[in-house]
Amino acid sequence: MPKITLEHITKRWNKFYAVDDLSMVIEDNAFVTLLGPSGCGKTTTLRMIAGLETPTSGRITIGDQVVFDSALGINIPPNKRKVGFLFQNYALWPNMTVYENISFGLSNIKESLPKVNFEAKNAARLAEILSRPEDVREILQECLDKKGRLDEKKAVIKLVDAYTISGYTAKKLLGYHPENEKDFTAECEALRKTARDAVTAQHLNENYEVTENGAVVKEVRKLTKEEVDLSVRRVSRIVKIGMFMERYPAELSGGQQQRVAIARTLAPEPSVLFMDEPLSNLDAKLRLEMRYELQRLHVETGSTFVYVTHDQMEAMTLATRICLINNGVLQQYDAPLTVYTHPNNLFVADFVGNPSINFVEAVGKAEGDHVALRLLGEHKAVFCPREPLDLEQWFKDRDARREETARLHAEKAAAKSYIEKGNKDEAFRYHIPCVVEDDYSLQEDPVLTNEDLVLGIRPEFLGITENGALEGEIYGAMPTGMESTVKIRIGDFLLTSVVFGNTLFKIGSKIRLDMESDSIMLFDRQSGECIALGRLEFE
Ligand code: ATP
Repeated sequence: MPKITLEHITKRWNKFYAVDDLSMVIEDNAFVTLLGPSGCGKTTTLRMIAGLETPTSGRITIGDQVVFDSALGINIPPNKRKVGFLFQNYALWPNMTVYENISFGLSNIKESLPKVNFEAKNAARLAEILSRPEDVREILQECLDKKGRLDEKKAVIKLVDAYTISGYTAKKLLGYHPENEKDFTAECEALRKTARDAVTAQHLNENYEVTENGAVVKEVRKLTKEEVDLSVRRVSRIVKIGMFMERYPAELSGGQQQRVAIARTLAPEPSVLFMDEPLSNLDAKLRLEMRYELQRLHVETGSTFVYVTHDQMEAMTLATRICLINNGVLQQYDAPLTVYTHPNNLFVADFVGNPSINFVEAVGKAEGDHVALRLLGEHKAVFCPREPLDLEQWFKDRDARREETARLHAEKAAAKSYIEKGNKDEAFRYHIPCVVEDDYSLQEDPVLTNEDLVLGIRPEFLGITENGALEGEIYGAMPTGMESTVKIRIGDFLLTSVVFGNTLFKIGSKIRLDMESDSIMLFDRQSGECIALGRLEFE
């Protein structure tokens, strides 16, 4: 399975940069979610990798094939990229059965395929299955109706599932009579002989493919009915729709239809599967169920999945890596838990996590290896970083990064073809919840110095305890049974806490509050970048 590489991919419509200089590597067998607010460029990114949209510049490689290169003028069409798509509007053909919907695309594939002796192959497989007649007998036994007659339809589905064979081969199995030992052994031996004779006469390899001088002979052909059937059965088993094959889409629930759509996409065995919000049409319960299905599917198919969503929960739970984009610019590309615990900047910290992270503005400076802070009105605290922190050096490095970015930008801007980005990148405006919102939001943008910092405190870091360092008041509480989301007022500020268990909180009651975690984030207010993780000790 291939890995996908994006190098300096930009997509521009006039002055609007939908995707701005995106570089990333999607590892083989990864499950990458493209996440970000509406209009940030997720779908455009996916469409460019798939070949449905042409980048303005950059280079995309899938496996060892360069599929797009603006400098070299390479642009391989989507149908030659060996990728599968699954979109929000999956549109099954209403006049075709489930089986026909899934098999339709397969029957039309015509490409260079190995020349196979199917007769010998099937004979060998049948002989192998029949060499354990008691197993076959047991399966058939389960398919007898009340009068002791064989339910053939049920038997075919069971045999297909048990032996990973096509419906045709399963039907042939029904024609044998494993209860008659003597006949049966003879049938088995005849099948083995057919397979053996073919192998010697035709130079067949272990897959019953015709070989010449050791190499597999290829021919341009369509898939045989049996090969199509095998594929259809294989994918139907994965998404568990084997029993609906004869139904029409209108006779299925939304979730079942979605599973058929997934099966149809999986049938040609794409090595990369692109999905654009495929679950957004489903109700909440079904969506959760399908998430598990997709997770399993990813493991079972071994394909690389690229998945667009604006639902951070979906992105967190499904992905091996999240690619978080804002205004066309990559913000972070990491494992979900890394994105949650070590966000690169304020935007990432805010976007990921439900309930949202608490941001607390603070003013402070380094005192030895700690940072002395004033926050939440006149509270004093010390931030103790997990790792040694040289704050002065951190600011110097930040300034160097800024200069480098400005230099690169000036270099780019000097090029004749350069078009200035219309949708300018702006500093992320975080929200500080207050009792009197207006007062706060009306304040003008202050002139910021290196002493202006922001703390990021996840709701689960805030504990309501008797001996907590801070005094607060319950402003509101939302108990769900398993946990409560509690809004706590400290001065004019509101903080959100998640408390596990089913404690009832009375609005207006006084409580004490602790911040036990050593994963509190310290951000630079000017750049929005995360400086360090650490502990907060109140005086
Ligand atoms: P959503 O979650 O809303 O689907 P998205 O992140 O997938 O958003 P894209 O569809 O990638 O967003 O679009 C990125 C930006 O590019 C949007 O602001 C959109 O308006 C713009 N855009 C998309 N297609 C075109 C087009 N053909 N011409 C001009 N602008 C476009």
